[in-house]
Amino acid sequence: MVKLLRRCAQCQTYTLSNVCSKCGSETTYPHPPKFSLDDKYATYRLVERYKKSEQEKPT
Ligand SMILES: [Zn+2]
Repeated sequence: MVKLLRRCAQCQTYTLSNVCSKCGSETTYPHPPKFSLDDKYATYRLVERYKKSEQEKPT
């Protein structure tokens, strides 16, 4: 769902529409969705792996 979120370049309004409901300008994706998603998942994966290795450590 996040990748459907677009932003108006004119008034910075976030919308799901191709056209801004406020000023009628064409909306664009605020940042490259693929890059940001990959980055997010990579971070989560690292955190999960870190937690796991912490749990598996003998105390
Ligand atoms: Zn606008």
